Amino acid sequence: MATKPNILLVYTGGTIGMIKDYQTNALKAFDFSQILTKIPELKQLNCKISTISFEEPIDSSNMNTSYYIQIAEIIANNYKTYDGFVVLTGSDTMAYVSSTISFMFENLQKPVIFTGSQLPIGDLRTDAKENLITSIEIACARKNDEPILKEVGLYFEYKLYRANRTTKINAEQFEAFTSMNYPPLVESGVHLSFNEHLLFKHPDHKEDLIFRKNLIDDVAILKLFPGITKKVVEATLNIPDLKGLILETYGAGNAPTEKWFIDLLENAIKKGLRIVNVTQCAGGSVILGLYETSTDLKKIGIINGKDITTETAIAKMMYLLGEDLSELEFKHYFETSLRGEIS
Ligand code: ASP
Repeated sequence: MATKPNILLVYTGGTIGMIKDYQTNALKAFDFSQILTKIPELKQLNCKISTISFEEPIDSSNMNTSYYIQIAEIIANNYKTYDGFVVLTGSDTMAYVSSTISFMFENLQKPVIFTGSQLPIGDLRTDAKENLITSIEIACARKNDEPILKEVGLYFEYKLYRANRTTKINAEQFEAFTSMNYPPLVESGVHLSFNEHLLFKHPDHKEDLIFRKNLIDDVAILKLFPGITKKVVEATLNIPDLKGLILETYGAGNAPTEKWFIDLLENAIKKGLRIVNVTQCAGGSVILGLYETSTDLKKIGIINGKDITTETAIAKMMYLLGEDLSELEFKHYFETSLRGEIS
């Protein structure tokens, strides 16, 4: 590529886009179209940066599927014009948002990098500048005239992770995210070091981008705890219109063996509810049948979430429910890695 890469910076909200009003000491959102004047360092990057911002930037706690679609549409509508995308959102729900976007695009051939910060960009000790500058650098990185990264990533504090492997683990430290079951794709030190063997591999024949935006949000998460009562499980399974449930179990996918519990789940599955078993542990995998406490779950047809994160399980559930799949197909696709989300 003779010309500089074109990068689209999408600002949706979150701490990163705030500056301190030094007269009042309050944090306020700043006009993101002014980012190049506010952060002149960006001009030193070897790329052309354009910005687009949500009309009303939001705290990521207010995200829902309509915002996911808004972000994905911005990327889809600009896909041909730009070489890479950096999406700025609040960090609180970034793992959910970025995971969902990873499913919405099949055959993604360009980098989409989510980032944000723990301190506002206008704060003296901010982590925003490094996160933003390095994310843009990674989005610009090319080899053999192609982007190196062709998937959705999440960059925070010197590491780029596969987005659908991440979890927010810290509300205080700059290192806010981790990816317990998959190593970082890129590490930023004196040099940017790409772990190329870990990047998402597309088939050799290039397929066109497929953009799907039919997300179903009739989903829920039920986290088990010792002593959970029948009333709680029953009430959850009886939520009107519920179509998918993420069941957070213990250890390698274990749950009580009590008859009432297994019967309730079995009946719900028979009636068409998709139930996925994910572990409450931060790392490791569900292994159905390893212990007696998961053999019944296997028998009643629970879906094995393997080493998927809860954030990504909910994202994949919303995505696959929109695909009108039979029970068998749904189980097959859920248990198969679609975007590198399970090992
Ligand atoms: N509450 C903010 C948000 O998620 C925190 C952040 O920006 O990191 O929108």
